[in-house]
Amino acid sequence: MDLIDVQGVGPKSIKLLNKLNIYTINDLLNYYPFRYEVLILNKLSEMQDGDKVIIEGVVEKIPTVIRLRGKMNKMSFRIISDNLLVNVTIFNRGFMKNHFEIGKEITVIGKWDKQKNSITASDIRFTKINENKIEGVYRTTSGLNKKNLSIYIDNAINNNINELEDYIPENLKEKYNFMNKSESIKIIHNPKNIEELKQAQIRLKYEELFVFMLKINYLKSKHKKEGDGLSRTVDYKFVDEFISKLPFELTPDQITSVKDIYDDLTLPKRMNRLIQGDVGSGKTIVSIIACYINYLSGFQSALMAPTEILAKQHYENIKKLFKDYKINIALLIGSMTKKEKKEIYADLKEGKIDLIIGTHTLIQDDIEYQNLGLVITDEQHRFGVNQRSNLKNKGIMPDVLYMSATPIPRTYALTIYGDMDISNIKTRPKGRKPIKTIVKSNSEIKDVLYMMKDQLDLNHQIYVIAPLIEESEKSNLENVNKLKDNLMKAFKNYKIDMLHGKMSSEEKEDIMDKFSKNEINILISTTVVEVGVDVANATMIVIFNANQFGLSTLHQLRGRVGRNELDSYCILISDKAKERLNIMEQTNDGFEISEQDFKLRGQGDLFGIKQSGDMDFKIANLKEDYKILLQAKEDSMKELEMRKLYTDRQNDILSKILINIENMD
Ligand code: ADP
Ligand code: MG
Repeated sequence: MDLIDVQGVGPKSIKLLNKLNIYTINDLLNYYPFRYEVLILNKLSEMQDGDKVIIEGVVEKIPTVIRLRGKMNKMSFRIISDNLLVNVTIFNRGFMKNHFEIGKEITVIGKWDKQKNSITASDIRFTKINENKIEGVYRTTSGLNKKNLSIYIDNAINNNINELEDYIPENLKEKYNFMNKSESIKIIHNPKNIEELKQAQIRLKYEELFVFMLKINYLKSKHKKEGDGLSRTVDYKFVDEFISKLPFELTPDQITSVKDIYDDLTLPKRMNRLIQGDVGSGKTIVSIIACYINYLSGFQSALMAPTEILAKQHYENIKKLFKDYKINIALLIGSMTKKEKKEIYADLKEGKIDLIIGTHTLIQDDIEYQNLGLVITDEQHRFGVNQRSNLKNKGIMPDVLYMSATPIPRTYALTIYGDMDISNIKTRPKGRKPIKTIVKSNSEIKDVLYMMKDQLDLNHQIYVIAPLIEESEKSNLENVNKLKDNLMKAFKNYKIDMLHGKMSSEEKEDIMDKFSKNEINILISTTVVEVGVDVANATMIVIFNANQFGLSTLHQLRGRVGRNELDSYCILISDKAKERLNIMEQTNDGFEISEQDFKLRGQGDLFGIKQSGDMDFKIANLKEDYKILLQAKEDSMKELEMRKLYTDRQNDILSKILINIENMD
């Protein structure tokens, strides 16, 4: 059965439903209300002037319809309710006129004008409202009204409810006394009372989290399996030697991370590790050492950065670090000529390149490697199996290392990143001073300008994150231009330039280049990602409309400064959300900030700027339903254990999920 087979759904409504990501009957059944309204039937004699009322009555006078401008119309009629004669008016329901009959029972929802004995109605219904009816409210899209959407859902429930897959195994359903899937779906759309609604919600949340954790735990157990990875024999003394030649001393956490990686790479299991650490904590050097170990054992490495600018920066730095070594390093970015790219493709295939640096295209395009042994992903708040499936399509099983500057609270990391091993870098490189953070209102802009001047006088550089406005790219650009003009007036003798989303990557690179050479004093940027560069002489970052960002994102932005022993500053400008922003003044610890952010905003900003689809829950919320998550985690682990005992796969829906994951991975 397809969506089109649901009673009432036609080609036009299919298009609208698609806009809501509803493509199948299943999607429709799983499209839950985002909130509920409790409808309580009122008696007019007990209501005050101006109250919102829901009343029942009997039609006393058939409606008259007046046409207004355009397609608008106004319908008026009279009912008797609670022994009162009441005038009702409602807009744009003229099409209902013919359904009225004198003496017919009707329900009216609207605003009560006691003086005039009249109601301006927002809704009228010919069905009775049960005492204390709870009604689901659905998010919808223009062209599809809420009533039709809920009619489609009801029709789907009536005819298709038994086709729904139930993902909770029988034993667990019994253990928790859960209702059936079909029952829970009926209730979530049309609850009779709060109690049963809660039961249905818990059941559906549990199911969603159970499947989520089952996938994660399954992946984890698969990755743990010995023997399916590359094995390498590299003496750690070479690693030690490399470290001793670095221009700085590694922090204890960096050394621990290197050892974790060394163990992973030399054991015959596949590495699947995440390095978590604040911006500037020095994750890159750890990943470079991983490349070195991989190189010593004769494999190629690929390092992927989120932007071309960052890829280029990594390339420059890494080339310097390896200048006394024979390792062959190359950069691959979109702005290169076809000929240049072709050469690199050939070299990769022939194994002439040991370390390739670029963006995500390194594993997405038709690039062939001779023996890719290690893939590193920088600054990717990743979850999911897509990357792995890309690699699988290439027929290779390299070790994988992820780096993330969005630390997430330990407890959540254990569950969410459950399929990965984690190394944390908490200690900061020596000599780093904490960044001083100050929250200012827009009215205090003068103070901010003086603070900026102090830094400029010291020949230090400044990042300015422009005030972003959601509405449009165009008004953003106008805004930034205005800001640039104002700053140019305030700082006549300084060079000010900007980066914005509409620029080509060459233009961006050119500007970043100038900024890193101190040819630009103040860099204004609208795009947050592009600021991921390492310019040690930049000692101040000024962020307008700071309230628009999550704390984790602000913390990442702040990490652009404070890269050496100089005093550094982060100025947050906002008239709103002061309390939240004050947290930034109080701590420089990314882990603590992410914990606070999580408490304040839920899972929303957890993964920084973007979230991947695997985390889009329909009903569960990682923060509010954390207890259910933990239970689901435990249960899913037991379920996997149990399944291992059977030689034959059970022919049920969970086995199907696991087989799907297997094919992806
Ligand atoms: P991130 O963790 O944000 O990727 P980077 O790896 O870019 O941080 O490191 C930030 C800067 O700190 C770089 O310039 C790097 O060379 C330097 N750095 C890394 N580790 C140390 C260390 N142990 N001591 C001193 N400087 C270091
Ligand atoms: Mg980095």
